[in-house]
Amino acid sequence: MELNLLNDAETELLRSMIAEATNIVICGHRSPDGDAIGSSLAWMHYLYHIGKSNVKVCMPDAAPDFLHWLPGQNSILRYDRKPKEVAQAFKEADLVCCLDFNQSSRVDAMQDVLESSEGSRLLIDHHLEPESGCKMTISRPDMSSTCEIIFRLIHQLGGYDTMTEPCAECIYCGMMTDTGGFTYNSTRPEIYYIISQLLAKGINKDEIYNRVFHNYSTNALRLRSYIILNKMNVIEELHAAYFTVTKEEMSRFHFIKGDMEGLVNIPQQIKGLKLSISLREDTEKPNTVLVSLRSCNGFHCQPMATRFFNGGGHADASGGKLNCTMEEAEQLCIKAILYYKEELK
Ligand code: 5GP
Ligand code: MN
Repeated sequence: MELNLLNDAETELLRSMIAEATNIVICGHRSPDGDAIGSSLAWMHYLYHIGKSNVKVCMPDAAPDFLHWLPGQNSILRYDRKPKEVAQAFKEADLVCCLDFNQSSRVDAMQDVLESSEGSRLLIDHHLEPESGCKMTISRPDMSSTCEIIFRLIHQLGGYDTMTEPCAECIYCGMMTDTGGFTYNSTRPEIYYIISQLLAKGINKDEIYNRVFHNYSTNALRLRSYIILNKMNVIEELHAAYFTVTKEEMSRFHFIKGDMEGLVNIPQQIKGLKLSISLREDTEKPNTVLVSLRSCNGFHCQPMATRFFNGGGHADASGGKLNCTMEEAEQLCIKAILYYKEELK
């Protein structure tokens, strides 16, 4: 099975960037998901293992509760909690690894410290349209996840034999979450070969699934059910659905980070649906609406995310952000759906 992603010159470049680095920072995007955290921690475990003792994982903010079990999670430095420590880490870094994001704006408030770092920049990601200016860019939108890329890189660098179980757990977690438990973006045979290689390291895949996907509080499940029952609008003739979630509704169900994760996928269970949109008020920033988009059945939501919602992402899983009221966001959402009505019909 062909797992190598890099040619000889690229492999040498990656090797030398790692060899020359003493202080390494690994960072991921705002509201890090299983792939951002999984890939960052797996890369950290690998770098530790090959003798890099000063590796720091820095994230803009918290990961949801269902990822807190990941090995190494306790060592993550959060910019919203420890801005000075994070700024210092970026300042001292001679290598900055940007994982699972394509634009530095995706790290939100941490953008300035990232951009002012003088360390060589290594981007490892699977989103469309990576930004330029990195010393090395490993951008593979054809891969299921950044974790899949990380596995392949470690493998190519000769690190599979000594890969530890914690490292394998982190990689599996990100591959699993970015494919919805291997239900989308996961048809290539190599993915299952990689899984077999991770299982050989002793990971318990069923337990990982339970930890991540069966971790709702009663309130969270009630919030999700409430949204689908009361807030989901379906435009049958355009095969599109959207829902809005306000701060008031979230506080009514004692919302905590992660409670809404993946809910945007649920309307896709409607036969023939092409587009699902979630509009959610940001609980931290006023007048901010977070947008999530999912598409299937031949429609691709990424251009819509860019054109209407200041965002982007993958062809069929995108997101964005609006600075407006929920009423305005809803109007824009309807406008966006109508703009693509010929493709959605
Ligand atoms: P989610 O709906 O899970 O928050 O995000 C789905 C995908 O959309 C993410 O993997 C990410 O690639 C992309 N995405 C989410 N928010 C933004 C954003 O604000 N800007 C851009 N460019 N992409 C986003
Ligand atoms: Mn990802």
